Amino acid sequence: MIVIMNPQSTEKEIEAILERLKQLGLAGHLSRGVERTVIGVVGKVFPELKDTLELLAGVDDVVPISRPFKLSCREFCPENTIVRVGNVAIGGDDLVVMAGPCAVETRQQLMDTARAVKAAGASILRGGAFKPSTSPYQFRGLGDDGLRLLAEAREETGLPVITEVMAPGDVELVARYADILQVGARNMQNFILLDEVGRTGKPVMLKRGMSATIQEWLLSAEYILAQGNRQLILCERGIRTFETYTRNTFDLSAIPVIQKLSHLPVIADPSHGTGKWYLVSPMARAAVAAGAHGLMIEVHPTPDTALKDGAQSLTFENFEKLMAAVSPVAAAVGKKMEGLARSG
Ligand code: PEP
Ligand code: MN
Repeated sequence: MIVIMNPQSTEKEIEAILERLKQLGLAGHLSRGVERTVIGVVGKVFPELKDTLELLAGVDDVVPISRPFKLSCREFCPENTIVRVGNVAIGGDDLVVMAGPCAVETRQQLMDTARAVKAAGASILRGGAFKPSTSPYQFRGLGDDGLRLLAEAREETGLPVITEVMAPGDVELVARYADILQVGARNMQNFILLDEVGRTGKPVMLKRGMSATIQEWLLSAEYILAQGNRQLILCERGIRTFETYTRNTFDLSAIPVIQKLSHLPVIADPSHGTGKWYLVSPMARAAVAAGAHGLMIEVHPTPDTALKDGAQSLTFENFEKLMAAVSPVAAAVGKKMEGLARSG
């Protein structure tokens, strides 16, 4: 249920409604838009609540929301959410490119990649320190050492850093180093982790689970939002289908679907979405044409020796080519590529 406030309503009236909701055992989430101020009501909503709330001072209208995801839906917040990380804004008119290796392997590998992706126009550095692995025998990341290297790379390049956190107990540690916390596909429904990253108040990027419906994905987003953390980004990274040629089936349609249903920014990850380096650029272009707010791209100095995801990683040269190929598509859909403008 959402309470739409009268444009002339006062702070005191808003406070009174939040207090009343608290007394009723419900949570009220305030959203101040340019056009209107709305209070999202979550909890066990009862039929008489609408009449009760409509009587309160400052209230224009009370509208039930039938969707199970309440705080992530457009009805709650008609304007797009913009997540700000340093001077990067995700969710607006800029096409934000996050790039870097799948896993942080060595100082040299990370620094070289950070410099290369920055020069090519990326505005955020990615790299896994804690790596989820399907097999326990694969590389599982450098852990704390990887986080320290990411911080070093940020220091040198000025690029904010996104990295994955896998366990609720690691959230505090990872949050000390990361600018954006990534929740990976395999953990999309790790509800304790979602609560925990929600409590940090730090920007979070939630990847779609490989077998998750869009509704399940938005319900996972809801866990983070319900903790009061609005700094949330979604990332489509492909889903599992009967097709085996590609690693996953990149669900392009999820991008406009999310934008219809939700106010949250949506990033496309065609690296995991396809699993093959030569499919990354075409799907990146398609995702931008479909309205993605940004891209997450895996880049490695020598993909053939990468400890993880070499097959889908771009060389520096191929990443530069991708940026050049994406640029006219971004312009065609009214998005700016800040990084490219800066470098050239
Ligand atoms: C990654 O970003 O390297 C990763 C493990 O992604 P996903 O969770 O989408 O598989
Ligand atoms: Mn990867």
